[in-house]
Amino acid sequence: MSFDVEKVRSDFPILKREVNGNPLVYLDNAATTQKPKQVVDEIVTYYNTYNANIHRGVHTLSQEATKAFEKSRETIQHYINAKYSSEVIFTAGTTFGINMVAYGLSGILKAGDEVVISSAEHHSNIVPWQVICKARGAKLKTIPLDDKGDLDIEGFRVLLNNRVKLVAFNHVSNSLGTINPIKEMIYLAHQNDSIVLVDGAQGVSHIPIDVQDLDIDFYVFSGHKIYAPTGIGILYGKEHLLENMPPYQGGGEMIKEVTFEKTTYADLPHKFEAGTPNIVGGIALGRAIDYLNDLGLENVNKYERDILKEATRCLLQIEGLKIYGSSNKKVPVISFNVEMIHPYDIGSILDQMGIAVRTGHHCTQPVMDRYKIPGTVRASFAFYNTLQEIDILVKSLEKAVKMLKV
Ligand code: PMP
Repeated sequence: MSFDVEKVRSDFPILKREVNGNPLVYLDNAATTQKPKQVVDEIVTYYNTYNANIHRGVHTLSQEATKAFEKSRETIQHYINAKYSSEVIFTAGTTFGINMVAYGLSGILKAGDEVVISSAEHHSNIVPWQVICKARGAKLKTIPLDDKGDLDIEGFRVLLNNRVKLVAFNHVSNSLGTINPIKEMIYLAHQNDSIVLVDGAQGVSHIPIDVQDLDIDFYVFSGHKIYAPTGIGILYGKEHLLENMPPYQGGGEMIKEVTFEKTTYADLPHKFEAGTPNIVGGIALGRAIDYLNDLGLENVNKYERDILKEATRCLLQIEGLKIYGSSNKKVPVISFNVEMIHPYDIGSILDQMGIAVRTGHHCTQPVMDRYKIPGTVRASFAFYNTLQEIDILVKSLEKAVKMLKV
């Protein structure tokens, strides 16, 4: 099946708007994706017809809202191929999910133990581990990046020893777009009896994910990077690990029984969902995944690979342009600089021309330090971007470079 990008674009009204007098070219999808009208309609329908609190109500609206919320959990379960829907926990996003796991597992660390992360992590997959290492007297170690921008898997092997209790890395680097060999890395970590968390924030919208086949212990992602709203995300965890982990927050919804002497916790997944959750966000996330399933992730993936290939080829024709990161296994993210021009200057001029790109360190300062640069310009694509937009990007960039070199 060929991919009908114009038909797809008609689902995203925002793509028709103008910015600074020019048609919007939205290339900041790694920061957040746009939402199809099917998702926005779902939110409107929820508020206009069945808004109610969930799980506790006997009345019809509450039952309808509960059913929609729980159906969404099952949609997500199938999307990532979790064994049980109770292993799928609604969170506020990736950052929240990582903090939940870091806090929940901190008790297994003793002084002298080690936590291993990669050196290409988003700050949200660095800081929570630093916090627990400090609290427990453990050490944080990092998997090095090689000169091509790939993780050094031999270096990872060398780091593994019986002090390493936890390992965390991303599925896909947000600043470079590199797809990491997570199956091999999980295998190596498990051979070492370490528990693994994979940050799926940048992978989940591009690459089919099967948590059972990959044998992932914990997988986290954010709704807003997969065509759903902000403020909702997922923590997947293997049942036995979640059962043994203390809850992150106490409150309503997460209990079986409360007395002043003692509280017993609810079964999974509710043990980790204290308080009224982001009900509409959860429902909208399920709708976004239905939308993606209807397009077919394979079709999306193939189209995005073509876009990446063409954008890379065209950008490399610009004199002095350097792309950072591996050229082999990537999602459609291109991080670049042009000679010594500051990325911020390029980003500002592109904005004048209607093009939205990201500039800066992309919350991965250690990656920028590795390359000894202050930041990059990052163009990140989604399935609604077109070949024509690549052309606009390249021509606009050429103009911007000319202006800035004077
Ligand atoms: N990890 C990665 C790889 C990311 O790209 C991001 C978002 N840029 C995050 C974590 C944090 O996600 P959020 O801000 O949605 O919690």
